[in-house]
This record gives sequence, C-alpha cells and structure tokens, in this order.
Amino acid sequence: MKKNILSDLSVLVSLCKQRGYIYQSSEIYGGLNSCWDYGPLGVNLKRNIKEAWWKAMTYREDVVGLDASILMHPKVWKASGHIDGFSDPLVDCKDCKNRFRLDHAILKENKNVCPKCESFSITESRQFNLMFKTNLGPVEDEGSQVYLRPETAQGIFVNFDNVQKSTRKKLPFGIAQIGKSFRNEITPGNFIFRTREFEQMEMQYFVTPKDDKKHFEFWKEQRINFCENLGIKKENLRFSQHGPKELAHYAKEAFDIEYKFPFGWQEIEGIHNRSDFDLKQHQKFSGKKLEYFDDTTQKKFLPFVIETAIGCDRLLLAILCDAYTEEIKILENGKEDKRVYLNLHHSLAPYKVAILPLSKKEELTTIAKKLQTDLSKKYHVEYDHSGSIGKRYRRQDEIGTPLCITVDFDSIDDSAITIRHLKTMEQKRIKLDQVMSYISDFLAK
Ligand code: ATP
Repeated sequence: MKKNILSDLSVLVSLCKQRGYIYQSSEIYGGLNSCWDYGPLGVNLKRNIKEAWWKAMTYREDVVGLDASILMHPKVWKASGHIDGFSDPLVDCKDCKNRFRLDHAILKENKNVCPKCESFSITESRQFNLMFKTNLGPVEDEGSQVYLRPETAQGIFVNFDNVQKSTRKKLPFGIAQIGKSFRNEITPGNFIFRTREFEQMEMQYFVTPKDDKKHFEFWKEQRINFCENLGIKKENLRFSQHGPKELAHYAKEAFDIEYKFPFGWQEIEGIHNRSDFDLKQHQKFSGKKLEYFDDTTQKKFLPFVIETAIGCDRLLLAILCDAYTEEIKILENGKEDKRVYLNLHHSLAPYKVAILPLSKKEELTTIAKKLQTDLSKKYHVEYDHSGSIGKRYRRQDEIGTPLCITVDFDSIDDSAITIRHLKTMEQKRIKLDQVMSYISDFLAK
C-alpha cells in the first residue's frame, strides 16, 4: 500500500531541519520571523533548481542573462509605480490587536471582521508600503534613501537598451535574471512560501506589440511544462487567470501557475503581458529613449513585454511537498512499516549517489573510497559508514538520494557492488568497472 500524505507543513518543516535542508534563521537567538537558512542539502537543491531554470530559459538563441544590482536609483521605483502603488491596505483589530490585510478580513453580515477573533471592531485601513528602505552612504537623510528591490524585473527594464545594443538582438528576445528580492510582507508564513527575503527567477520577453498574444501563449505552455519536467505531478498544477479586478496596474493579461499546497491552491509563478508600460514609464522618468528600431520596417517603437516570474523558494517548497512520500506496508505480524522518502527528480536531488560500505574494515573502505573519488569527479556523492544499513538507507530515503551503493564482503571477490534505487528499492549487482556508466545512463533518463 502506498500513500502520499502531507496534510500540513509541520512534518516537512521538521524533516527539512533534521536532514539539513532548511533551518530557521538565527535560531540560536530565538529565530527571525519569516527568515530561513538553506542547509547543506537545501543549498544544493536550490542550486539545482536555479540551474534547471537557467538552462530552460537561457540555453536558447533568443534569451540572454543578466545580473543587476539589488540597490537601484530611487527614481526606478517611482517610474515602476512601486513607491505610489506597491502597498497593502492594513487594518487593526481593536479587540485582539491583530493587524491584518484588509483583503484577509472575513465577511460577516456584509461587514469586514477580524479573521482571528471575528470582532467587528476594526480600524479604518491604512496603506503600508512593502519596500524596505535603507541609506546609501554615511548620511541618513531623504537624499540618500534607497530601496531593496521588491522584484528583479526593473533591473531588466532599465538595461533593455544596453542589452539590445551590446548583443544586437532582434525582437523577439528575452532577458533572464535570478536574484534576491525583498518585500516587507504583512503576513508572511507557511514556511518558505511567503517570506520577506526571497529569490526570484524572472524573464522579460520583448516582442512586437501585434505579436503579444502568440508569445504569451508560447511562454504559458513552456512554463507549465518546466514545472512538469521537474517532476511536479500534473494533477497538482493548474492555471488561474486574473480577472479584471485582480490585474496589476501594468498588466494587459495575466495567468498564474498554481500548485496544490497542503494549505490549498496557491500561485507559484505569474505570466504577465506587461504591454509597453514599464519601458514607457522609464523612458518618461529617465528622459532616455528606449525605443527599438526595426530595420525591416524602418520604424521605431516601444516593444511589449511578456513576463514570466517565479519564486525560487516557493517553487522549492512545491517540489518538496510534491516529493514527500510515505509508503506504508503491512507486515506479516500485522504491524505497519512506514518508509518516508523524497521522490525528487534525480536532476534536482542534492546527492546523486550515497556510498554505504557495510563495514569499516580496510578491505571494504579501500573499494568504497576509490568509488567515492571516481564518482565525485562528476557527481555530488555522500559517504556514510556509521550506523546500521537500515538506518543509513532510511536517511538517504528522506534526503531523496536516487541511488545507494553498498560495498559488502563479496565485493572483495567479485569486484562488484549493489546499487539500490530510491523509488523502487530494486537492487542490482554491478561490476565496479561499470558503475560509472550505469549511473550516468540512469541519471541521463
Ligand atoms: P503573491 O500574490 O503571492 O503575493 P505576487 O503576485 O505579488 O505574489 P509576483 O510579484 O508576481 O507575486 O512575483 C512573482 C513570484 O515571486 C510569485 O509567483 C512567487 O513565486 C514569488 N514571490 C512573490 N512574493 C514572494 C514572497 N513574499 N515570498 C516568496 N516568494 C514570493
């Protein structure tokens, strides 16, 4: 019998801590609300996700990469609308003192009530800007005030002309970027789902305005395929279209890719037709022409932009939720035997192989260490020789290591080892000189 049950995040949060995926930030000081640190396994998983995204988005003729700075000229945020518009209406409950977003209030008898204590006694709403402020240089005055970017997209827009001229790209072409963004979210939560510091993977695709629909449909399909190719189950992914009321001020059309988290369907990625809004705004506020010259029609115009914007941390959470598997077997004595494993796509797994010698005796260690050295030239390899083999398998299962190699006493005579597969637990005896090709064939699938 097989079951995949992740009814809430608490099991995953503790697995992540125990196995070294994700820890609470500054934990020894009591933690910092909504900030998380990626441990030795988490950092590898995150790097693999970013690498998969980077490959999917930039290993193509029409998309180039960029790494813009986090601090930008304050006028950028005036032009983008973030200074005036990037805020949430906040209200306070006069009874329980809870502060919450107005759109999180519950409707009762046609009135907004506190979502915590259901009191009707709530204050008028106030606007709260989500951008973090800091100062550039030693003087802390109005003139030195800058912001931590709340999205990476603006770094792309302000470099549109630089990139186009230096690469001589013709429309349609895109600029992709991975980087940290910061939002002083009012209600962060659900582990790494909504945090105040997070990493985004965004791509802005510049197109001739009349072709916007075609490119929008193309990227919508590409992006959902990307999630499926990372192993996320089809039935846990869906599109959700923004209605006229939800559309952001810059958007002409928008779809979210949603994932079915244990706490419900939620956005993981946005695909937006931003029209020429951003380039027009930056052209106006900077006074610099940002038009594109089409040498076939000999016409100048501002391109439209199709944006794909996904949060790396949020995608990582979706991947972990999707991979978490509990397999329950009823033993002959009627008791339940539970195996927990992370069914990660092997391209994402932090370790590809774990080498588990059955004993610390020198004859076995020599074979195991040689394998480790050889395999480490190509893969992230874990070496573990302590504890019972059952416990070591269990640990690798929870980490999501696709292949475990056991070196046993027969290995000395038959120059072979046993490879155990994570998902099927199938075991295969492989000659030492064929281990590398066996692994690379398996991982290439
Ligand atoms: P939400 O409605 O959840 O606040 P958003 O619509 O404001 O998200 P975008 O501005 O479109 O999000 O950002 C693109 C992506 O960045 C989101 O789909 C999400 O994956 C990620 N993201 C946005 N805000 C956060 C956050 N506070 N923490 C983690 N990831 C985030």
